[in-house]
Amino acid sequence: MREGLMMDDHQLSLTAVVERAETLSPDRAVVFRRPDGSVGRTTMGDCARRARRLAGALRELGIGPGDAVGTLLWNQAEHLELYFAVPSMGAVIHTLNPRLAADELGYIAADAEDRVIVVDETLLPVLDSFRSAHELEHVIVVRREASLPDGCLDYEQLVSAGEPLAWSVAPERSAAAMCYTSGTTGRPKGVLYSHRALVLHSLAAALPDAIDVGARDTLLPVVPMFHVNAWGMVYTAALVGAGLVLPGPLLDAVNLLDLLADERVTVTAGVPTVWMAVLAALDAEPGRWDLSALERLMVGGSAVPESLLAGFDRHGLTIVQAWGMTETSPLASACRLPPELDGATDAERYSYRARQGRPAPLIEIRARGEDGELIPWDDEAMGELEVRGPWVARSYHRGRGADRFTDDGWFKTGDVVRIDPGGSLRICDRSKDLVKSGGEWISSVDMENLLMAHEAVAEAAVIAVPDDRWSERPLAVVVLREGRTAGADQLCEHLATGFARWQLPDRFEFVDQIPRTATGKFKKTALREMFAVARS
Ligand code: AMP
Repeated sequence: MREGLMMDDHQLSLTAVVERAETLSPDRAVVFRRPDGSVGRTTMGDCARRARRLAGALRELGIGPGDAVGTLLWNQAEHLELYFAVPSMGAVIHTLNPRLAADELGYIAADAEDRVIVVDETLLPVLDSFRSAHELEHVIVVRREASLPDGCLDYEQLVSAGEPLAWSVAPERSAAAMCYTSGTTGRPKGVLYSHRALVLHSLAAALPDAIDVGARDTLLPVVPMFHVNAWGMVYTAALVGAGLVLPGPLLDAVNLLDLLADERVTVTAGVPTVWMAVLAALDAEPGRWDLSALERLMVGGSAVPESLLAGFDRHGLTIVQAWGMTETSPLASACRLPPELDGATDAERYSYRARQGRPAPLIEIRARGEDGELIPWDDEAMGELEVRGPWVARSYHRGRGADRFTDDGWFKTGDVVRIDPGGSLRICDRSKDLVKSGGEWISSVDMENLLMAHEAVAEAAVIAVPDDRWSERPLAVVVLREGRTAGADQLCEHLATGFARWQLPDRFEFVDQIPRTATGKFKKTALREMFAVARS
């Protein structure tokens, strides 16, 4: 090695991203919508300065490097302050998904060893539902109207009393953030994001063929900040000096369209379900909203149908599909029309844009067929997608699910794909046994197990059926024990002991027997053929 040619080995730390926003784009707007619908305004600089005080207060409470700080918050300014403060002080921000069942949340908070949880007052009932499962040292409440519950701390008081903390650069491979992913079987698994991964991810996300953002942009992440770092929108905005619009819990079409128009948002992101509702509102009242500033909608989390692409095109709005996972930070591919398709027909372009796209720079892809061999990139052969790269997980928290990772850094995604000669992915199926409804997971295996624990049920299989509104919904196929009866309502009541209400199947099919594979497993392909008809 020629010593003299070496560059500085500066650590890639989120602290640099936060400091950059604080010093170079302090006046960029951060707009937030409160649960009562009113809109508030602050700036990147204010949030970054308050983050220092917040970090000082957390330090006073005993939070140190490596400690997990849980959040139960919407996309709101306080969440941004925590995104800034917690990794910059060397601790780990663990975003909890309030839509999970109480039992799952309790498990996750305990598994992550959250010492503190910062909760929005509107989510206090969610916190109460799982508090007994895990002892927290402190609960910090973001309040507007509610009185402070006994034994809790007030967020604003902490920030105003906190001594501003000077950041020290965390080692780039130390943990900055944490998120849980739904497991096919058993419990959710934790993914720990390093500073390095999130800095590189933010750079890649800003590139023209990815989200394509700079200092002139205003980003509105509809994707919650508790979903894989809001798909990187927050740190990317801070890095490039873009403004942010945080929509809070009001995610219905009219509220979103009002914000997109009023704040002249240039780039937004969310799951197809959200945009289907938005499209229906636009179709119902074309011309009501001035969306002339809106350049692009990043859509992913579930497959984007061609009809959605065409629907937004009719309003002069462009959807770009992206693919990623909790394990990939998440952005791993995005679909931009390559120059070779400039002269293509509309049908060819739509068919291309409905793909999940080419891997982001530094992300490698390959896929393995059922025979265990790598598939050719001919857009014909199908195989399970494997990915690796600097923001792809190498393992789960506590070494769980080790069979999903290879020794040389590949992660087995569970998505079944075709790959075209240009490296563009098309997801055809999913090998993991999960239902994805409105961007949130439901474990079919857990649901089957709970159903089969019902005294009247002999066998149960749960499959995903396509749904126009939610992308997928669970359907339960049930064989009753001889002489026993149970209806859909009773089975739903039973399932409600382990699942959130929105997760319960809206269809039950009672059959005499469930078809099986040669090895005796439920043959879900056959069940899908029998029952998986889209219903609107
Ligand atoms: P999550 O870990 O919750 O972010 O979910 C990741 C999974 O969502 C992927 O493994 C896919 O099964 C699915 N997914 C994400 N983006 C897309 C997309 N654009 N098209 C189809 N499925 C997607």
